[in-house]
Amino acid sequence: MSACSITLTPFAEADEISRVEIAYQFDELNIPTGQEIFRAQLNTVSVPGAEPMDISVRDEAGEVPFTLRETNPYPILYRHFDAARDTQGAVVIRYTVQPCERLSQGRHGPYFQFAKENGGVSGPGLAFLVDAPSWQGDVSLHWDLSHLPAGSKGVCTWGEGDVSYQGELDHLRQAYFAFGPVRSVTEGEFGFYWLTEPPFDVNELAVFTRNLFGVMQRFFRDSQPVYRIFMRHDLTESSGGTALERSYMFGWNSRQTVTVAEKQNLLAHEMVHNWPHLNDNPYGVTTWYAEGTAEYYSIMIPLRNGLITKEQALSEIQKRTDAYYTNPTRHLSNLEAAKICWQDRRAQRLSYGRGVFFLANTDAKIRRATKGKASVDDVVLDILEQGRNGATLGNEVFLEAVKRIGGIDVSGDWRAMHEGEDFAPDPDSFGSLFTVSEEKAREADTGKETLSYRWALR
Ligand SMILES: [Zn+2]
Repeated sequence: MSACSITLTPFAEADEISRVEIAYQFDELNIPTGQEIFRAQLNTVSVPGAEPMDISVRDEAGEVPFTLRETNPYPILYRHFDAARDTQGAVVIRYTVQPCERLSQGRHGPYFQFAKENGGVSGPGLAFLVDAPSWQGDVSLHWDLSHLPAGSKGVCTWGEGDVSYQGELDHLRQAYFAFGPVRSVTEGEFGFYWLTEPPFDVNELAVFTRNLFGVMQRFFRDSQPVYRIFMRHDLTESSGGTALERSYMFGWNSRQTVTVAEKQNLLAHEMVHNWPHLNDNPYGVTTWYAEGTAEYYSIMIPLRNGLITKEQALSEIQKRTDAYYTNPTRHLSNLEAAKICWQDRRAQRLSYGRGVFFLANTDAKIRRATKGKASVDDVVLDILEQGRNGATLGNEVFLEAVKRIGGIDVSGDWRAMHEGEDFAPDPDSFGSLFTVSEEKAREADTGKETLSYRWALR
């Protein structure tokens, strides 16, 4: 099997990391003239990645000339580096990236910036590591921290320090990274990492997420030990989170108080993303499922496990109701919303609201139809199992699983949700713990009169 060794060499200057030299050494990479050697992800959902500079490609015959081309499969921008002659044998790709400054204005995230923070850098692999999509083999990642102050560390989702695995380079690009003066709370392969010492009890957050990981892992029938969480100090006035494979990054800022009670739902939402999802191609066609399950289980799993109270769950459900039913963009279809969601962030929230209420309604319907024997949990776990067995998962897989497990056809409800038609929350949703009634409301931004819902404890 072919091997690729990747070395990351960060350089510190004036108390910050100014650049990172990156080398990919392939023991064999045979690319014919005109074909792609590698690609850089220059933009992800409107967030710029680190642009490779000072690029050199060499093989056993010397320097490999290349040509550039860009493609834009929405919402990503790639720069492709194509071979101008056949490559021969071992290939070494070298380039340099400069980490950016954290956003200081506007809205936070998504956390796809490769950004400096307090003498270190953090961000996702996809923002600074190039990909060679045609290649797979033995990958090893090495850190050369000799140009950083003593005590500096390098960590990514897949481990602290050097890591290796067999597979595609993309596996490393789907990881979060942090290096420099990285601090941590760890337990085995579970880790919680940060670069700026916050003014709140970070240990309390780390312990909370560790417990959450335990209960979610049991619920989703997962036995892999790796999970790593990265925390960023935002300079913006709002904060959020972004999940990748077996990891997420979330932010805090100096304007908003940070407690477990304030952050628990966000931390749970991002963690759920590790498990349920359907194939989201074309972009936006199944986002309702990823965001809907993340919203639904960010409430239901902590509630069932005593990590939050019924009153807290009620408040989380009401927040989502207010947000969705007064969103002026709520009549856009899922595909229309996906096209504009990174320009109009109101449309970006639609998949969350309609996803959670559609799933909660489906749960109520399945439980009524099966007299409590089955629930939407069985559907979600069934789809997860199909995914582990390699199935390609689309909306029809969801509808088929509801039919098979719940004995009901929800394709009409699904279409209404997908097209952005009005639908009301089912009073038996969210575990039959609440009542729900109609109430007059005003749309956000437009102030137009509209219909929303009020929840109360039963
Ligand atoms: Zn999400």
